[in-house]
Amino acid sequence: MIQVHMFPCLKDNYGYLVHDAEANVTAAIDTPDVPAIRRALEEKEWRLTHILNTHHHSDHAGGNLELKAQTGCQIIGPGADAERIPGIDISVGDGDEFRLGHHRVQVFDTPGHTRGHIVYLLPDDGIAFVGDTLFSLGCGRLFEGTAAQMWSSLQKLLAWPDATLLYCAHEYTQANGQFASTLEPQNPDLVARLAEVHDSRAAGRPTVPTTLAQEKATNPFLRPTSAELKISVGLPDAPPVEVFARTRELKDAF
Ligand code: ZN
Ligand code: FE
Repeated sequence: MIQVHMFPCLKDNYGYLVHDAEANVTAAIDTPDVPAIRRALEEKEWRLTHILNTHHHSDHAGGNLELKAQTGCQIIGPGADAERIPGIDISVGDGDEFRLGHHRVQVFDTPGHTRGHIVYLLPDDGIAFVGDTLFSLGCGRLFEGTAAQMWSSLQKLLAWPDATLLYCAHEYTQANGQFASTLEPQNPDLVARLAEVHDSRAAGRPTVPTTLAQEKATNPFLRPTSAELKISVGLPDAPPVEVFARTRELKDAF
């Protein structure tokens, strides 16, 4: 069995510890906040053995060196961005598979937010850590990639099983939902999700993880074939990649 412990940190990040008790292995998914990660390790009485980085941004890899110095953990990260991942020991990329304890981990290159962004899927556990590639009701900003790159990255996630639990790196769902509702006000799944998100946030609960099925039904960045959305963005007959690109532009200006 694999355990995932999540905790909010910084302004709106989530920290994650992934623990395989049989193997006594614990990985931090990214290193947004060293004190928060150390508190979580102490609380769970887990020893950090690995860091799995999704991308180089400081709210994801900024704590690498300090945690490595304190624990001697091994750092796994995107080979395409190895020079920007502090302390990286093992470079991985698209199609690679490794084991975290007894659990298979598959790596997917998802350029777009950054050129070297990767995501991690644990196929036998039905969970994935998607960093800043996909958010609930949103997707990462295109800092270093094109819309076409990001769309092809997202299509890799769309090929996963619908029940896959997606652990995103930020709690952005409510703001994303405000934008989504301007594009698909008639989408009943979105309307229901927005109500649920409102209640969760009002009660101080996270809206993460989400599922791929839920995102397929509600996330405008995964819905460039929705007739309502295509009309809303003014591209009723455009191919998905163009609708996606326009949706991203509109969100940037929202
Ligand atoms: Zn980022
Ligand atoms: Fe981030």
